[in-house]
Amino acid sequence: MENRIAIVTGGSRGIGRAACLALAERGATVFACGRDEAALKEVCDEAKKRELSGKIEPFVLDVTDKKAIDTFVEGVGESAGKIDILVNNAGITRDGLLMNMDDDQFEDVLTTNLRSVFWMSRAVSRLMVRKRYGRIVNVGSISGVMGNAGQTNYAASKAGLIGFSKSVGKELAKRNITCNVVAPGFIETDMTASLPEKVTEGAKQLIPMSRFGKTEEVASVIAFLASESASYVTGQVVVIDGGLHM
Ligand code: NAP
Repeated sequence: MENRIAIVTGGSRGIGRAACLALAERGATVFACGRDEAALKEVCDEAKKRELSGKIEPFVLDVTDKKAIDTFVEGVGESAGKIDILVNNAGITRDGLLMNMDDDQFEDVLTTNLRSVFWMSRAVSRLMVRKRYGRIVNVGSISGVMGNAGQTNYAASKAGLIGFSKSVGKELAKRNITCNVVAPGFIETDMTASLPEKVTEGAKQLIPMSRFGKTEEVASVIAFLASESASYVTGQVVVIDGGLHM
């Protein structure tokens, strides 16, 4: 991935952090975005410490801010001349039962997990089309494939992401731009750290591999889909869940 320019949203922690490191390990220059500046700097330091061939540049960006996204993408386009890889990873949960879910709970999740992907992909695709090259990888969830009680907002956002990605895949295929989704199951991050012990243990019993996944196990699939090796793969949903959904 030498000479490739990548953007990873939510690069400060969890799966996004691992994706930044995986892309930098393969030689890419990665713009890691998030709201937590200190955490972003730590990811850059980690890349330096590991002496990765690529590099990671921190960028403070709230993906719910449409204007900030446009300004950021324009800036990267001007300074780097192109954007080859976009990993839309930033995401949140605001779980609750349907009967008790308020409008903000639903809207916040839809905006962070889905609207932001539309804004970011729209801006970046304009640059990719000019260069006739692009790899877009969207981080969905097994919840968007199977549904999940208590996650009507989250599952709707992640299912929406699948329809969005297949449409982008069809629209941009002739321009050598692919768009795929990775759908993780339970992965060890801050997002799952707060789950009650009972839920965690119950989930492990349902997972054929009897364990949660590691962020690196998602990042390696993201890196493949973002690589030139995945040139004939588009519109796909790659489930990474230790066999939970099969
Ligand atoms: P995490 O550890 O909680 O990290 C979430 C990331 O998203 C952070 O880097 C955070 O950055 C960023 N983010 C959240 N809101 C943002 C905003 N408004 N603007 C910019 N960045 C924002 O979660 P994770 O588990 O790594 O999740 C990453 C993705 O994987 C999400 O899309 C999630 O839905 C998906 N996923 C996770 C699991 C799992 O089991 N962990 C399973 C399926 C899917 P800042 O805090 O710096 O803003």
